[in-house]
Amino acid sequence: MRVGFGYDVHAFVEGRPLILGGVEIPYTHGLLGHSDADVLLHAICDALFGAAALGDLGLHFPDSDPAYKGVSSVVLLEKTVTLVAQKGFAVANIDSTLVLQRPRIASYVPVMVDNIARAMHVPAGCVSVKATTTEELGFTGREEGVAAYAVVLLQEKR
Ligand code: MG
Repeated sequence: MRVGFGYDVHAFVEGRPLILGGVEIPYTHGLLGHSDADVLLHAICDALFGAAALGDLGLHFPDSDPAYKGVSSVVLLEKTVTLVAQKGFAVANIDSTLVLQRPRIASYVPVMVDNIARAMHVPAGCVSVKATTTEELGFTGREEGVAAYAVVLLQEKR
């Protein structure tokens, strides 16, 4: 068994879509980034890389690489799972938390779970997405951006 942890933050800006867990959520602001800035999927990728001791998202998908400009982070997650599988690991389960004051995302969580499960080739029951506010404290509370945390458990394939 191998455990991994991931954390990511992206800033809110006007004029971009808000994409979380592979779902486009109607909102006044989106997240700034080289890819689609899906902060949740980036945290999950980093948890996977961490568990497999394979470095991090920036190492594998550098934001200096034009190939990843505007890319869907679902694609990055699929590539990450492939790299982890090539190292001999299968995903057992994943837990994650999105930290944002607004918008309310509870109704989108089941679709996020399905997107993540499909990209990771695991049943939806192995994927958890939670959300919390920070009671209007800190940068997430001031609605300057969104943070995400993820932990993943990998099993060595036999
Ligand atoms: Mg990121």
